Amino acid sequence: MSTENSKLIVPGVWELMPGKGCSAFLVAGSEKALVIDTGMGETDIMAECRALTALPLELVNTHYHIDHTGRNADFGRYYMHPADIEKCSVKGAEAVPVTEGYRFELGGRTLEVLETPGHTPGSICLYDREAKIMFVGDTVSRRPIFLCEGDYELDDFRRSLERLAGFRDVTMYAAHDPEPNNYETALKLIDAMAEYRAGQLKAREVCFGMTSHTVYVSENGTGFLVP
Ligand SMILES: [Zn+2]
Repeated sequence: MSTENSKLIVPGVWELMPGKGCSAFLVAGSEKALVIDTGMGETDIMAECRALTALPLELVNTHYHIDHTGRNADFGRYYMHPADIEKCSVKGAEAVPVTEGYRFELGGRTLEVLETPGHTPGSICLYDREAKIMFVGDTVSRRPIFLCEGDYELDDFRRSLERLAGFRDVTMYAAHDPEPNNYETALKLIDAMAEYRAGQLKAREVCFGMTSHTVYVSENGTGFLVP
């Protein structure tokens, strides 16, 4: 089943707040359900999850950015990579570190943590090996990816994209992209990054509300957004 603020994407997996700019995900096993990110804070993610499942909930964040952690406090506890816990300003909830290889055992469904630094130092992906799906946060996306000063590291980012490009049969769900991705988007981003670093991408100014950003987009459609 789906609700007004959720869309069933594969059996037992929902995209929460689809089309609202920053999606979260709910992945249900037979014993537990895992919430991946909590959006910007406008939507009551807990209520959305409760409309979909009565299972105990755990929360993990793909990274610490505020548009992914807006409702973390409602859960009391969240898993995050230690490099991002250091930067995270969420109040009223306990941060639990997770690193490469950690497995969220949900009952008949396992999500593994892959360390994919670059967008932030502690960016992670959650990989369901059986279902061949992965939740990639802001690491693989057709929408231009934010490069925030003090957070991003392009050599790490390229290595992470190269790693993800190796998952040839996996469907990748990003937070800011309405359509699923796969390894091809990772390959395009590797090319776009090389072009960006060589100064070959044209800059375009875009406005989000009161703030203006610069977007660099490759002819292959992927690119980066710089504050
Ligand atoms: Zn981000």
